Amino acid sequence: MSTLSDDIRGLLKRYKVQPTKKRGQSFLTNYAVAKEIVDFAELNKQDRVLEIGGGLGVLTQQIAEKAGEVHVVEIDANLVRALCDKVRDYNNVNIIEGDALTVDLPKVNKIVSNLPYSISSEITFRILQELEYEMAVLMYQKEFASRLIAAPGTPEYSRLSINVQYYARVEEVLEVPAEMFYPVPVVDSVVVRMVPRSAGPIARDHSVFHWMIAGIYPYPNKNLRRALRIWFRNLGLERTLADDALKRLDGLLSGEERLRSISLVTLVSLADVILEFIESGAIADPRV
Ligand code: SAM
Repeated sequence: MSTLSDDIRGLLKRYKVQPTKKRGQSFLTNYAVAKEIVDFAELNKQDRVLEIGGGLGVLTQQIAEKAGEVHVVEIDANLVRALCDKVRDYNNVNIIEGDALTVDLPKVNKIVSNLPYSISSEITFRILQELEYEMAVLMYQKEFASRLIAAPGTPEYSRLSINVQYYARVEEVLEVPAEMFYPVPVVDSVVVRMVPRSAGPIARDHSVFHWMIAGIYPYPNKNLRRALRIWFRNLGLERTLADDALKRLDGLLSGEERLRSISLVTLVSLADVILEFIESGAIADPRV
């Protein structure tokens, strides 16, 4: 507690805040770091910003200084009270009490958040799939962030990397040591900047792409032919369909490649072959 500023210490005491791991409550306490994070979002007074999980408002305050509007979703009623107190001098902050996974999210053009780690994956996909945004600056646990930015051929390259990079360009911009939070978590954090992809490989059907990735990436260390055969067998299909799919790719993939090494563009081509199988009736349509 000794490194906490007086205002944070006051809020913790006044609102009897008892942080819980279940809700990922580890609060950023360093204003300089909060400012640095907000700078990556290049905010100006035209920006409408969404913050998921306002907590004690250290980040909220920095966003409010720079942006036109800040919409903060916070699930914890006690923290909502603390947050209202913290930002009482700002007239551009709208606090929404609720679960960020289910509330109607406001229309914004930027997202800046120190995300609750307990919902990292779900909330990231909600942002990527539902919001039309220009840029997101998001803080995650370091290991999770490594998977988001992983390149093909690295041990962290996984289903998560592929599904996220399908929607956005993702880059690490800042590492934040655990001591910058209260309570101090066991792991460091990393801030990631995401910009929606305006060009690049897009599957003919997004849902078939994600369905295929979910079907084959439980086996990231297997080779592609083997993973396809297992997936088709699980679907009750002939395993020889795996060979047919590879043939249709005209030598793009031999089938011997480890899943961890296959690029997004190649996976998109494979998903389009799977869609052809669905259209021809060889695979039952998973979308109905
Ligand atoms: N933004 C603050 C900061 O940087 O100090 C708090 C970050 S803390 C990691 C995550 C915050 O998200 C907590 O205040 C927690 O109560 C809130 N939270 C957890 N689950 C949530 C959910 N499903 N919807 C909205 N807020 C949530």
